[in-house]
Amino acid sequence: MAKIIPRPKLTFWESLYFIEIFKGLMTTGAHARKNLIHGEFETRNYPEEAPKLPRDYRARHRLMKRPDGSPRCVACFMCSTACPARCINIVAEEADRTDIEKRPAKFEIDLLLCVFCGYCVEACPCDAIRMDTTIGVMVHDNRRDFVIGKAKLMDWNPADYPATDVQSQKAPGGSLNAEALAQFNGAGGASGAGHH
Ligand code: SF4
Ligand code: SF4
Repeated sequence: MAKIIPRPKLTFWESLYFIEIFKGLMTTGAHARKNLIHGEFETRNYPEEAPKLPRDYRARHRLMKRPDGSPRCVACFMCSTACPARCINIVAEEADRTDIEKRPAKFEIDLLLCVFCGYCVEACPCDAIRMDTTIGVMVHDNRRDFVIGKAKLMDWNPADYPATDVQSQKAPGGSLNAEALAQFNGAGGASGAGHH
C-alpha cells in the first residue's frame, strides 16, 4: 500500500529560505573547520567496517516461507508485472495442497537489472517477497551469479530477524514455528499428491 507523507508546514521565516540557506552554510562551515583545522575526518574504513543497514533499507530480496518451509509465494505474477525492470522470472506449477492453487516451480531475480525500487514487495498480495535482508553489497565475478533463484532467495534464518517479525518467526527454526506448523497442517492441507 502506498504511504502518503504529509508535507511539513513552513513558518514565515522558513518560507523566506535565506535564513535556512545561511543555517545550511553555517553547518557546512562548521564541518569544514572541524575537518581542516582539527583533522577530524569522519570516514569509515570500508569495506572492513561495513555500515549496519536498517531493516527498512531496500536490500537484496528474500522469499518468505510457510511453516513447513515451502514458499509463501502463490505464483500470481503480480510482482513481475509491477517490476519496471522486468527482472523477475517466475514459472508456476500446481501446488500439492488442496488449499493452495499454485506455487513457483522457478523464481529468479536478475540483480543486475533490478533497480531496487521495492515495487515487487508492494505488489505482492501475500507478504511472500521482502527486501529486508540488509544484504546491500553483492559482489560476483560473473554475471550468472547475479541471477538468484528460489534456493538462494529462501536461504535465510529466522534467528537473524527480530522476534517481533511474526511472519519470519513462523518459518522453520523460528520461535513461533511449532504452533504455526500445527495450524498449517490442520488447515485442510490434505495432500493432493501426484499433481505436478
Ligand atoms: S525491486 Fe523493483 S526492479 Fe527490483 S525486482 Fe523488485 S520491482 Fe523489480
Ligand atoms: S512473490 Fe508475491 S506477487 Fe510475486 S508471484 Fe509470488 S505471491 Fe505473487
